[in-house]
Amino acid sequence: MLVVRNAVVGPFAANAYVAACDRTGEALLVDPGGETARVLALVEPGWRVVRIVCTHGHIDHVAGAAEAKEATGAPVSLHAGDAGWLEALPRQAEMFGFEPVVAPAVDHHPGDGESFRVGASEGRVIHTPGHSPGSICLFFPQERLLFSGDTLFAGSVGRTDLPGGDFDALHASITGKLFPLGDDVRFLPGHGPAGVVGEERLSNPFVGEKPRRGRFL
Ligand SMILES: [Zn+2]
Ligand SMILES: [Zn+2]
Repeated sequence: MLVVRNAVVGPFAANAYVAACDRTGEALLVDPGGETARVLALVEPGWRVVRIVCTHGHIDHVAGAAEAKEATGAPVSLHAGDAGWLEALPRQAEMFGFEPVVAPAVDHHPGDGESFRVGASEGRVIHTPGHSPGSICLFFPQERLLFSGDTLFAGSVGRTDLPGGDFDALHASITGKLFPLGDDVRFLPGHGPAGVVGEERLSNPFVGEKPRRGRFL
C-alpha cells in the first residue's frame, strides 16, 4: 500500500507529495515545488526517497527539485517535452515572483506508458500534454490512485494560456487517457483538493459530460 503525505508550497500553493510503500519504506517525491525543508519533513523515519518526479516543468512544481535531489540523492524525472520550461527556470522565477531558482539536473525523461516501482507498488507514466507539452500523470492501478499534476483538478482543469499550452490537447488527454482509467480512481492534483475521476467525467465544467452550468460562473 502507498501512504501519501502532502504539503502546500510556494506562492502558487502547489501540492508536493511524498508517497511511500508501507512495506519497504521506498518513497516517491512528486512535485517538490519549493519550501524543500517542509517537503522533506513529510518523509517519515524509515522511509527513503528513491525517485523524484516533476509532473511538468512549471516553476511551482520544480523549484525545490535540485535541493531535494541533493538532500536525498534520488534521481529526477521530467518529461522531455518540458525541457524548454526547465531552461527558462530563471526567467520563470523572475516572472512569477519566486526567489532565484537552481534548475535540477534531470536524470530521466519518462515516456508514455513507462512503468516504475515504488517498493511493492507499481506505477505507470501517462503523458498528458495540454497544460504544457511535457505534462505527465502517474497512475497506480492497484491503489486506484492518480497523481494528476496540473492536468486535472477537482472541478477544473489546468490553464492552457501559457506558452506551449493547448486546450484541445488537454481535452484529449483527459477524456482519452484519464477518464478511461475508471470512475473509481482517486486523483491528487497539483493544486487544490483531491478528487474522483468519475465525478469529473460527469460534471467537470470543462471536460465533463454533463457540466453543472452555473456552478463556476
Ligand atoms: Zn503548471
Ligand atoms: Zn502548478
